[in-house]
Amino acid sequence: MFETKLIHSGYNSHEFKGSLAPPLFQTSTFAFDTAEQGERRFAGEETGFMYSRLGNPTVSLLEERIAELEHAEAALAFGSGMAAVSAVLMALTKAGDHILCSQGVYGCTFGLLKMMDEKYGITHDFSSMETKQKLLECITPETSCIYVETPINPTLSIVDLQMVAEVGRERGIPVVVDNTFCSPYLQRPMMLGCDIVIHSATKYIGGHGDVVAGLIAGRKEMIADIAITTRKDIGGIISPFDAWLLLRGLKTLALRMDRHCMLAAQLADYLTTHPKVEKVFYPGNENHPNYHIAQKQMKQAGGLISFTIIGDKKTAQKFMDELHLIKIAVSLGDAETLIQQPATMTHAVVPEEERRKMGIDDTLLRLSVGLEGLDDLKKDLDQALAKI
Ligand SMILES: *Cc1c(COP(=O)(O)O)cnc(C)c1O
Repeated sequence: MFETKLIHSGYNSHEFKGSLAPPLFQTSTFAFDTAEQGERRFAGEETGFMYSRLGNPTVSLLEERIAELEHAEAALAFGSGMAAVSAVLMALTKAGDHILCSQGVYGCTFGLLKMMDEKYGITHDFSSMETKQKLLECITPETSCIYVETPINPTLSIVDLQMVAEVGRERGIPVVVDNTFCSPYLQRPMMLGCDIVIHSATKYIGGHGDVVAGLIAGRKEMIADIAITTRKDIGGIISPFDAWLLLRGLKTLALRMDRHCMLAAQLADYLTTHPKVEKVFYPGNENHPNYHIAQKQMKQAGGLISFTIIGDKKTAQKFMDELHLIKIAVSLGDAETLIQQPATMTHAVVPEEERRKMGIDDTLLRLSVGLEGLDDLKKDLDQALAKI
């Protein structure tokens, strides 16, 4: 079962002097028994560790575990979510290629796409991906990758992953899914036919706001190719200590996600009825435009809520300043409840016109619901809303 895998998969304490917690191999390199052994390892004739940018036992355990959790054959860990995103996109494209993206991506992913276009001539388009037809319209002979975020950051629109995977399979184009907002507990894109899953492990997987890291999972050949090209030679690797912290965070992922989702559902209800709140975007609300897709592909609706408040950018900022318990911070998936204004923070790099197309108004706020007490969170929102 998923909950058991979070705690046990890939680890046998008997191999490590009975150590219940997986050991931290804080080492940069590995000594060979003989020169010939070193030669065999570098030639790929013998498995074993050589140097921590190429592999490390603590990191390998994390990779094995995440592969199991995502129902993938293999996985790789990176020093940040963006190191993971860039390694995947650069591995799947060459000059002249085209990337088809969901309408709305993480702000830095947007920046990366722009840079790849300007520097390397790798173009991209955004598609609402609402129907198969809309998706097919944007595919060109150069399209070498379909890149999807769902729920989309920060509007929480949902893309039907099974539908996108079908199109990808028919056209022979790999489908990459940024699964950060769900974690493997809520959504498993590989099981819906997608090819590569990406996580900013900084968020729910770490879960404690103390690590910046990234993960990818997918089929063996594709992952092996990334391991020996864009990860090895660009070098965005994770430190063994951060991998160790992620293994520790993962143990409580299911417990934490259940509570994040339960609290978010209650707070979404509360915000929906508040007169100073204009619109609430929460995939668990029956009137969310993609409610049925969310029901189909997500175990629960997640821990994030986006909402617009009545007023302008300044009203929204005043509301944030009046919060005491809820912290003003980007990032998400921590034990602490966090609020941010996408237009001025995570998506400030996106030009205003593009932002509007993505549905990001100046009064839109994104709440990452933490693990605190429901009444305390409600009280904090209530008193701040009363002051605007
Ligand atoms: C945070 C985030 C990223 C980038 O991850 P880092 O760990 O900050 O590099 C990518 N995608 C999504 C959806 C994110 O929330």
